[in-house]
Amino acid sequence: MTSMLSVSIPTVDNVNRQAIAPLQVPERLLLGPGPSNADPAVIAAMNHQPIGHLDPAYLKMMDEVQVLLRYAWQTSNPMTLAVAGTGSAAMEATLANAVEPGDKVLIGVNGYFGDRLVEMAGRYRAEVCTLHKPWGEVFSLSELRSAMTAQHPKILALVQAETSTGARQPLEGVGDLCREFDCLLLLDTVTSLGGVPIFLDEWGVDLAYSCSQKGLSCAPGISPFTMSPRAVEKLRLRPDKVPNWYLDMTLLAKYWGSDRTYHHTAPVNLTFALREALRLLAAEGLEARWQRHQQTAEKLWAGLADLGLTCHVEAAYRLPTLTTVRVPKGVDAKTLMRQLLTEYNIEVGGGLGELAGQVWRIGLMGYNSQPENVDTLLSALKKVLLS
Ligand SMILES: *Cc1c(COP(=O)(O)O)cnc(C)c1O
Repeated sequence: MTSMLSVSIPTVDNVNRQAIAPLQVPERLLLGPGPSNADPAVIAAMNHQPIGHLDPAYLKMMDEVQVLLRYAWQTSNPMTLAVAGTGSAAMEATLANAVEPGDKVLIGVNGYFGDRLVEMAGRYRAEVCTLHKPWGEVFSLSELRSAMTAQHPKILALVQAETSTGARQPLEGVGDLCREFDCLLLLDTVTSLGGVPIFLDEWGVDLAYSCSQKGLSCAPGISPFTMSPRAVEKLRLRPDKVPNWYLDMTLLAKYWGSDRTYHHTAPVNLTFALREALRLLAAEGLEARWQRHQQTAEKLWAGLADLGLTCHVEAAYRLPTLTTVRVPKGVDAKTLMRQLLTEYNIEVGGGLGELAGQVWRIGLMGYNSQPENVDTLLSALKKVLLS
């Protein structure tokens, strides 16, 4: 064939033969900090032809996702929707919409994701102040009260489930404290939604976000977001535009609300998947789901103790969805992880930041929170540790 161009176009196979081979995806048991394995029913839901993002059938599905998300979070917030993007996009959405330049934002930092909140809040020109705790510990209500008294922030931001440490932040009383100081409460629920008890309204949480690929066992790329009427009011009163067009809730509310104005092309297949994941959660029931996660995690903790391994977090504050286990002396953390992956097809996570090389992170989230997975992991761990 004669080329229309005078230059020759390099073909892909000249560049990389592997890239034109048929797609191959290894089957893994994902027991790390996320993604977790998606429920097969969720994958089946995703595996449809797309439909239009303004198709009445799709709009109905969006409404159902909102209803199901409110249930999962235990909130009645009208402004509850799914952001197109991963958890970090929904995280950014909370800050982009809530932070006005110069607003004081107090952030509890006891792990990697607290630091990410600091980084993001700063980019939206918040006056950031932080409260620090060693990685693996949590903030007490009196520590939060002292910091609030000293700082008088407009927003207090906490991570309920610190995926980098495996610690669960207690929330009882924090919302009341925030109201006393006329402050909004922002909560990261990325590794808690669908696995750890959450009562957004009872706790007085004003802004929260999550992801699809952890406790909800969906594919990554679509992320729950919610704002209380108090937070919506702050947004309504802000004099400037939200400095992020894609995540501007004043625009997104018109698509998710009755106007149905086009904003962006929704990731429709991911919406199919998320709806199915949330439907499965509702069918199981929150209480049963939380209990399943707790029981599976306790089985893991007992099994780790039998192997002579130590959990990094005190039992009272341990997350059922993510466990950090200390790497024993003389063991190379990365070598063991590589062996689990290549010899047993099991993924676990390594330590982040301060805990790099010191812990492994074991996730038992959503569909993966099953006793058989604990048995599979413990037996593989035992063999690898003895080898
Ligand atoms: C995973 C995670 C995020 C980021 O979510 P992505 O889906 O990876 O963008 C934020 N916060 C916490 C606590 C997380 O575990």
